[in-house]
Amino acid sequence: MTQRLTIAIDGPAGAGKSTCARRLAARLGYRFLDTGAVYRAVTLAALRAGVDPDDAHRVAELARDARIVLEGEGPTGRVHLGGEDVSIEIRGPVVTALVPTVAAHEPVRTAVIPFQRDYAAGGGVVAEGRDMGSVVFPDADLKFYLDADESVRAARRAAERGETDVAKVQVEIGARDKTDKGRKTAPLVCPPDAERIDTTNLSLDVVVEMLLARVQARAEAPRN
Ligand code: C5P
Repeated sequence: MTQRLTIAIDGPAGAGKSTCARRLAARLGYRFLDTGAVYRAVTLAALRAGVDPDDAHRVAELARDARIVLEGEGPTGRVHLGGEDVSIEIRGPVVTALVPTVAAHEPVRTAVIPFQRDYAAGGGVVAEGRDMGSVVFPDADLKFYLDADESVRAARRAAERGETDVAKVQVEIGARDKTDKGRKTAPLVCPPDAERIDTTNLSLDVVVEMLLARVQARAEAPRN
């Protein structure tokens, strides 16, 4: 497979995006772009700097100045902020609760677009988030939208975290999805040219094989 494609994967929390995108990237020898990690790192930067998460312009300034580095394409990918490994902290409950507020600000989103596009320059990337196919990579070679029933998404997220209270996780992801879908700037949508895959009854191994088959077909198709 010689073409280095740009592959966009969007969808709500717990739909299997990160796992599938990471595995797909590994299988293809592509880079994996976890854009949720970028918004999480910006949120942590705001918390640490004592900046009000509602202050769009100050958070955007921080987003422009933050030294965020995504390192490692495999299952052990790390996230660095200002030289410090913050991979664990950005997944904690405080950041998770605040990130949709930070990510809803138009100036913040504008500030992180160059980082995302630079990371993907030259192709050979699987980019995962909420606005990959709709805003950041509108010309992506392939676009997917992964979705699943909310209860299944909550059960997956709870299992990942070792959390036994699935109902609590369902309330949390429901609230997060509502904010992500309802915001004015770059809301979570299924782009019209994306393939929607319902992963409710599929194992993520099967989903990865489906994505891989689409990528292989696309890479082998003649370019127009
Ligand atoms: O994917 P993850 O759960 O890490 O995303 C955390 C949050 O970051 C999302 O709920 C959303 O508010 C925000 N996000 C976003 N746009 C992206 C990726 C993530 O707004 N492309």
